[in-house]
Amino acid sequence: MYKDVWHTICVVMVFSSLVTACTPPQRNEAPPTLFDAINPTTVAQPTEKDNPAAIKAGIQETLDRYTQALNESNTDLAEQLVAPDSGPLRREFLDTFEDYIEVFDKDYVFEHTVHSVTLREHGFVQAHITIETGSAADWLFREVEGEWLFSEPEEDLLGEREIIEHEHFTFNRYAWSDITNETLIDIMEEARHVVGDRLGRVPDEKIIVHIRLVTGFPLFTDAGTRKGYYSPQNSDFGTDYMVVHAPYSFGFGLYDPAGGWEDSLQHVITHEYVHFVTTRSFRSLSDMNPWMSEGLAEYIAEARYDDVLQDVADEDLFIPIVDTTRAYGKQDLEHMNLGLEDENGVDYALAYSLVVYITETYGGLDGFWEMVEAYEPKHDFDAALQESFGVDYATFEYDWQNWVVERYGS
Ligand SMILES: [Zn+2]
Repeated sequence: MYKDVWHTICVVMVFSSLVTACTPPQRNEAPPTLFDAINPTTVAQPTEKDNPAAIKAGIQETLDRYTQALNESNTDLAEQLVAPDSGPLRREFLDTFEDYIEVFDKDYVFEHTVHSVTLREHGFVQAHITIETGSAADWLFREVEGEWLFSEPEEDLLGEREIIEHEHFTFNRYAWSDITNETLIDIMEEARHVVGDRLGRVPDEKIIVHIRLVTGFPLFTDAGTRKGYYSPQNSDFGTDYMVVHAPYSFGFGLYDPAGGWEDSLQHVITHEYVHFVTTRSFRSLSDMNPWMSEGLAEYIAEARYDDVLQDVADEDLFIPIVDTTRAYGKQDLEHMNLGLEDENGVDYALAYSLVVYITETYGGLDGFWEMVEAYEPKHDFDAALQESFGVDYATFEYDWQNWVVERYGS
């Protein structure tokens, strides 16, 4: 097991998706100081059921049991922490839990602390939580027989769906998400601006944006634990769409409190928008392989992988670009979307580094597109490198790894 588990957990949390802001753990320091974000004048009887201080204490109790379950690798205990009627959430919650167990084994020691609570409709309470590692999360709870359990509203409680047409996107809005709607629109416009600026062109077509408010969101109950994904035109909706987890949902996962959920969401939406622009204005994603499209999306969205790549360089965590040792079950970046055995949570960082390396060494994005053009007919990376850059695969991989070590190593 990779010793510095922090990067691993960040990526495992969101699976195939995109995490940039991972604050390093501070295991030897004291846990963050508890502060009470509730105005003290509003705190009434501590025993009163709806009292924010009492709610906060109740949620903290649940979080303590959650940490205990992680420490003990106790799935039965974890399962008790989800409201019985929240089926889809239970599955996602337990999938995430199993990922944590797998990564940390018995080494999970991080406390979860509730800092403030916000009352939402239908008896839900949104808690702002920090984790001893330095990350933050906003999760929903509901009281069930005296206990504050992880929960989320069912479809009929989300309110009316309203379709909002903007010049460049179609946005599905629900009353439940009102607290983030305006920010989301700004974030989407910013994503289009950044991607157009850096890639050089953007399509006129619109993209449909689905914000997945809850795990059991209509149409997207099987979206998995990814933070977001893009689906091209030949999809269920007849046109391109992206799905991203809403802030204040369990699926949104952890984020760096320094940039808030806004920075995290900006990154996810920009990343998915790159896939849309690639498909519509450059090439079909099937002409590329996963490291090319994911690396490009992370490069354009200006991911920050310095810490992860430092570990890659210092601990030799490289994954081959092309696994030439076996015909089946290849463990390489060309198959990173299938889930690799020992990828240590570094696959997206390596894909990103390849795109940076290519753009810096072989003529910017024009060089990258030239290589993709040469790769497309046969999906033969060695042949594509020789045709576009005049270098064979073995030399290219050696040079790239040396470049990573020199650029990022300590
Ligand atoms: Zn992607």
